Amino acid sequence: MPESGQGRRGHAVVIGGSIAGLLAARVLSEEFARVTVVDRDELVDEAAPRRRAPQGHHPHGMLDRGRVILNELFPGLTAELVALGAVECDTQNDCVWHNDARRLHPAPSELRGLVVSRPLLEQHVRSRVAALPNVEIRSRCEAVGLLPGDGGVSGVKVLPVGGGEPEELAAGLVVNAAGRGDRGVVWLRELGYGVPEEERVDSGLVYVSREYRGRPGDSEAAAILIAHSTAAPRGGFAIRAEGNRWLITVLGMGDDIPSADPDEYERFAEGLPIPDIHRLMQSLEPIGAPRLMRIPTSIRRRYERLRRFPEGYVVLGDALCQFNPSYGQGMTVAACEAVALREALRGGVEGVARRFFPLAAKVVDVPWDMAVGADLRFPHIEGRRTLRVKLLNAYIARLHVAAEADPVVGNAFLQVTNLVAPPQSLFSPRILTRVLRPRPAAVREARVLVGTAAVRDE
Ligand SMILES: Cc1cc2nc3c(=O)[nH]c(=O)nc-3n(C[C@H](O)[C@H](O)[C@H](O)COP(=O)(O)OP(=O)(O)OC[C@H]3O[C@@H](n4cnc5c(N)ncnc54)[C@H](O)[C@@H]3O)c2cc1C
Repeated sequence: MPESGQGRRGHAVVIGGSIAGLLAARVLSEEFARVTVVDRDELVDEAAPRRRAPQGHHPHGMLDRGRVILNELFPGLTAELVALGAVECDTQNDCVWHNDARRLHPAPSELRGLVVSRPLLEQHVRSRVAALPNVEIRSRCEAVGLLPGDGGVSGVKVLPVGGGEPEELAAGLVVNAAGRGDRGVVWLRELGYGVPEEERVDSGLVYVSREYRGRPGDSEAAAILIAHSTAAPRGGFAIRAEGNRWLITVLGMGDDIPSADPDEYERFAEGLPIPDIHRLMQSLEPIGAPRLMRIPTSIRRRYERLRRFPEGYVVLGDALCQFNPSYGQGMTVAACEAVALREALRGGVEGVARRFFPLAAKVVDVPWDMAVGADLRFPHIEGRRTLRVKLLNAYIARLHVAAEADPVVGNAFLQVTNLVAPPQSLFSPRILTRVLRPRPAAVREARVLVGTAAVRDE
C-alpha cells in the first residue's frame, strides 16, 4: 500500500455503506486517490439500528476470522470497542454452546470472540472509514443504475433520497455492496450482460429478538448459544452487549416459529431444549418490545461463472451471497471478500473483476456448504441431499456427542465454524479417532428437555 498516498490514482464508488461496503472502501482507499461510498439510508453517528439495515435489531456474532481481519484493517478496533463496553472473550471457555442439545465442553482456547451489538460495531467501523482522508461517505444517496463504459461499467447514476437532481459518478471501479435488496442483476441486464446463476435455500427461518438490561451476577457467560437441531428445531442466542445489556433471540422454522407478542415470546423461549436462555430472560428487565424478522431465502449468486462480465464492476457482501444468519457468517465473509478484493487489486484495476470473482467464490465455498449442509438436516427444507451431505451431517451429529466430553473435539469444531481451520481438519486422524471412539449408550442418546417432556434424539 502506498502509505503516503503516492501512487493512488482514480476514483472508486461503493454502493452500500454497511459492513461489506465499509470494509471494501477501506481496502479501496489503499489503491484509489478518491473513494465515494453512497448509501440510501440516513447514516447518523449513533449506535442504533438503521431503517435499511433492520438486522441491527438482532444480535450478531463476529467469528474469530472476521475479528482478526477487522483488527488488521483497523488496528486497535477491538480495544476501542472493549473500551465502549464490548466484551472480548474466549469463544470456547466463556461462551455456553449447545449443539444438538449437548453442551460443548468449555476449556481455555486460542479462539477469541467479540461480543458487541451490530449497530455499535457498524458505527465504529464507519467512523474509522470516514476518517480516511481519501474516503467520502454520502448518506441518503441512492444508486439507481450503472453507467456503461468502454467494455464495462464507467460509474454509477445516483439520486438524492427525498428529491433532487440525478448525478453521474464516474469511477474506474464500482463495488456493489448493496446487501439483500441489491438490484445489480437488473442493472447488468440493462447494460446487455447475462444474469448470474443463483443457488437458493429457503429455511423459513424467523428470528424474534429483545433487549434486556443486565443485572450484577446475571450470568458468568459472555454468550449462550443454543443451536437448533432436528430433534429440537427451536434455537436461541443471548449475547452481552455494551451498555450493560443482553440481546436475546429465539428462532424457529417452518410451523414452529416465535411471535413478537411478549408473553408468547417468553413461552417460546421456555420451550427451548435447554433452559439457560429462558432462565436468564426471567431474571432480567426487558428494555423494549420483541422484534420479529422473517429471514429471506439464502442466495448465492455465481458471478464467477458469467462468460462475459463488465470491466470495472464487482459485487460483494450479501449482494454476492446471503447466508442463513443463524451460523453467524455474513460479516466475516464480507471481511474475507474485502481481503480478496485487495488481492485482486494487486494486479491493477484492469481485469479486477476477472480476478476477484474466482477468489470470492473460494471465500464463499466453505461457509456456504457448511450452512446449506446444516440446513438440509431439516426435512421441510428443499434441496439436494447428496450422500456427502448425509454422511457429513451424521458425522457432525456424532462429533457433538464427543464434544460434550472432549474439549479437543469441541475446539476443532469451533475452529471450523469460526473459519479459522478448514472443514477437512475435522477428519484428521487425531479428531476422527476421538469422534468415533465408542461411547456408552447412555451418552450417545441425547435426552433433550423440552418443557417437561423428555425427547430422544435419533
Ligand atoms: C437477522 C439477521 C441476523 C444476522 N446475524 C449475523 C451474525 O450473527 N453474524 C454475522 O456475521 N452476520 C449476521 N447477519 C448478516 C449480516 O447482517 C450481513 O452479512 C452484513 O451486514 C453484511 O451485509 P452487507 O453490508 O453486504 O449488506 P447490508 O448490511 O444489508 O447493507 C446494505 C447497505 O446497502 C444500502 N443500499 C442498498 N441498496 C442501495 C442503493 N441502491 N443505493 C445506495 N445504497 C443502497 C443499504 O441502505 C444498506 O446500508 C445477520 C443478518 C440478519 C438478517
